[in-house]
Amino acid sequence: MLCIICREDKNNMSDEHVIPDSLGGYYHIFNVCRTCNSRMGEKVDSPLVNHKLTDLYRFAQEVKSKNGGIPNPFSGIFIEEGNPDAKARVNINKEGKLEVLYHPVIKVTEDSGVVQSIEIAVDSKDEGKIDGILRKILKRKGIPESAIIKGERRREIRTGGVGGRWEIDILKFKIGLLKIAYEFAVDSIPDFFSDADAIKISDILKNADYEGAKKYAKIDSDLQPGVFEPFVNYLDLTSRKHYLVLTPAKLGLLCLIKLHDLFSIGIVLSERKFLDFTETIIGVNDIDGRDFRKLRILDLIKECMGPVHTRFCYYFRDEYEKTKGESEVNSPTYRYEGNDKAEISLYKKNGERYPFLAHQLLERSSCQSRKDGNWQIHEFWFDETQEYYVKSVGSGNLHRVIALEMSQEQIRKV
Ligand SMILES: [Zn+2]
Repeated sequence: MLCIICREDKNNMSDEHVIPDSLGGYYHIFNVCRTCNSRMGEKVDSPLVNHKLTDLYRFAQEVKSKNGGIPNPFSGIFIEEGNPDAKARVNINKEGKLEVLYHPVIKVTEDSGVVQSIEIAVDSKDEGKIDGILRKILKRKGIPESAIIKGERRREIRTGGVGGRWEIDILKFKIGLLKIAYEFAVDSIPDFFSDADAIKISDILKNADYEGAKKYAKIDSDLQPGVFEPFVNYLDLTSRKHYLVLTPAKLGLLCLIKLHDLFSIGIVLSERKFLDFTETIIGVNDIDGRDFRKLRILDLIKECMGPVHTRFCYYFRDEYEKTKGESEVNSPTYRYEGNDKAEISLYKKNGERYPFLAHQLLERSSCQSRKDGNWQIHEFWFDETQEYYVKSVGSGNLHRVIALEMSQEQIRKV
């Protein structure tokens, strides 16, 4: 089987997580060889997975790793402001809260080689450790415990903040996102794999070429504005989900990646577009639902919309007809021949039936679309030179119609 990274025929395929496991990814593919998989884990996934922002995100969202651990984004040594001797660690306690723990500070004052005083400062949580530390110092200095003439304990409240330095990588993590985009595209668009850019990208991933990856990863500002816009109406960006979108753009084939609240990036995968906008593919990775699924944009929109409501616009010749007609069509028991899908029979004035139904007329009508809150409204205006009538089921009366309004309410996001 051909590995999509090294492009060699291999027989040791692996279970490749397109979105890393530790980010709650549930998208698996099986056409990456074991060698490439483990090399990418180390060099391609790792700058993304171990990124400081990823640590913070996983900490805030409590995304556990395979062994159940949540990273401590505050690992390392912190120093108290204005007091460089006071070093501290920031731990995550059992309740998942952060707590600052000071390192013990030991000061031994000597005068001509004779110990005058020993000062031990510990965090209040470590108070029980003082005696042990003192005993060790005495032993090291060869001083018997009986030599201590005066002992004193003091409590001090520290109000100053502690600070540390973070190195934030702004280059390497992009290769991890490029990998996600590339694998999603290869898995979703059959022709993409043999594209010239796709060949270059697999090379970049294989060699962990961080500089090369930079060229393909464009952060918001580099993209045409509003590129995410068509999707935000239908994707629930506040839920605990990751989204991948493959769509054509001015620059070519674009993969938008939104890893929940963590990273949002656009990857230009190829100068070729490969898809029409209506063929846009969306991947939804639900962290809580533990699954990944793909759908086309039209299906996405369909899933978000409620049932279609149809309503005719009637035409009455004069006041007399209007009064009579409206009293019938506005009555709650009024029904015309046909169904909700606009498969409605149309008649001529003389009662003869047209050989087509209302929905077949829509293609030949002029359409006006608008949005009203969550409602998507399409008005189809019929050819004015023709007269179309609908027949009341109850009375058999014909009523002239000049337009059909179809409206749909958006009731959810995916
Ligand atoms: Zn390979």
